[in-house]
Amino acid sequence: MTWTGDVVIVGGGPAGSTAATLLAKRGYRVAVLEKEEFPREHVGESLLPYCYPIFEQLGVLDELAGRFVRKPGVRFVDTEGSSQTTWCFAHVIKGPGYLSFHVIRSEFDQLLLDNAARHGAMIREGTRAQTVDLACSDGGVKVLAVHDGGREETYRGRFLIDASGRDTFVASRMRAKRPHPQLDRAALSTHWAGARYEGGIEQGLLQVVYLGGEKQGWIWAIPVGTDRVSVGVVLNHSYLRGERAKLVRLGREDWQMDLYRQELFSSPFMAEVLADARTIQPLMFNGDYSYSVTQKHGSNFALVGDASAFIDPIFASGVYLSMNSSRLVADAVHATLSSEGGMDGSAMENAYAMIDGAYALVDKAIRMFYNPVAINFAQIGSAAELIHRYHENALAVGHFLLAGDFFENHERYYRFLDLLSDPEILKLYRSTVIERPEFTAATCDASPLEIFAPLLAEHERRREQSLRTQAHLPA
Ligand SMILES: Cc1cc2nc3c(=O)[nH]c(=O)nc-3n(C[C@H](O)[C@H](O)[C@H](O)COP(=O)(O)OP(=O)(O)OC[C@H]3O[C@@H](n4cnc5c(N)ncnc54)[C@H](O)[C@@H]3O)c2cc1C
Repeated sequence: MTWTGDVVIVGGGPAGSTAATLLAKRGYRVAVLEKEEFPREHVGESLLPYCYPIFEQLGVLDELAGRFVRKPGVRFVDTEGSSQTTWCFAHVIKGPGYLSFHVIRSEFDQLLLDNAARHGAMIREGTRAQTVDLACSDGGVKVLAVHDGGREETYRGRFLIDASGRDTFVASRMRAKRPHPQLDRAALSTHWAGARYEGGIEQGLLQVVYLGGEKQGWIWAIPVGTDRVSVGVVLNHSYLRGERAKLVRLGREDWQMDLYRQELFSSPFMAEVLADARTIQPLMFNGDYSYSVTQKHGSNFALVGDASAFIDPIFASGVYLSMNSSRLVADAVHATLSSEGGMDGSAMENAYAMIDGAYALVDKAIRMFYNPVAINFAQIGSAAELIHRYHENALAVGHFLLAGDFFENHERYYRFLDLLSDPEILKLYRSTVIERPEFTAATCDASPLEIFAPLLAEHERRREQSLRTQAHLPA
């Protein structure tokens, strides 16, 4: 089979389906090749409020609001559980966008991909892109793909978008992937039922617990349902390798689960939350942690989302970075293909100036997070003199960063983080901003009803439907 159209997209995750929807909406013939059959599990469940306008543009906001848990903010807790800082998006985002989402990725990704299909993109699930030719004689691209049943297919287009996630389809073939050795981490995660909804979980807060010392990691707890909490442990790879060797020497068969539980239950906060809980999914392991790619675009291709770079997910920024990059690239692809001033590559250059700036900013914030003598987000909120004179500004910076203001204002925040590496300025910032009472409160004042109402309404609808079915009544 040979398909011929405008844009071939490899990968049907959030980055792929965003580009597919936006380009199909503009009338382009788009094919999305996705190696898995959806729904499939994926990590990356806590989203940033800055996703909100993208959801509106894609036309999925109402559906998301009717299905997923809402997220009013983030709480950073120190290792012992004695000190904490709560960042509430409502401090800086007015209007409904202050309530973000925690999603179950299998459902979220399916919803986005179905939406792309509704807008006219052709979706091929169970279809793995195998090889790519970016130097076709007509200036276009050719992808050879293999369907699950073994059938080979050819996809020809004028442009290729690689949204293959951490598989890095194009970058691996171009040998353009570079690891970040200082951010070499691995994550173990799964979902739990029976967890105690307390200490902020009942408020929909994303909980991040520091794991200091040689672990150089953290734990996340994300309420993704009314009785379903996603819990992950992120550890420095060298620490993980050492612990694995110890557990294997002791003859432990499932060293991953043993290590996961060992780290979770060493945190007093998590031990309390999970005291009566049980895991309800297989454990997931995500290694190959942080990397960037040396060439992200060319005259007929662009890399978006994790296919272009992956940074430690401590700030829950991955889905937003991926979807917003994809949105910017979709506009640049349109400019390129429609000759609306993009034929010389300037539209794509401009898009990547913003994308690279956003990734560099997140990278910098993450390195500060892991630097024990720099900023500590369990204790932090533009310039040095501003900290004194305009508390509100200084307070807002941290919130905007955690909410996802990475793209348009990345230079400003970058300078701000540079300033905070000066211990004197950091001290000043701590005393005037971080230690404010509203920061040390454990809540964003969101009611459980507001946070979980959509799910409860959905449960009620399903319960009624099943009662009607049992009673043979019409729906
Ligand atoms: C441990 C961990 C925790 C995280 N937590 C968060 C979080 O809380 N919040 C957040 O925003 N982000 C988080 N992230 C990051 C987030 O998961 C990613 O940034 C996001 O999923 C990237 O989306 P994407 O569309 O680029 O890639 P993906 O979602 O990975 O989608 C890529 C798709 O491409 C398909 N594919 C790959 N190769 C091929 C091929 N050859 N042919 C066809 N299809 C192919 C894959 O099957 C996949 O469906 C986390 C990441 C990790 C590792």
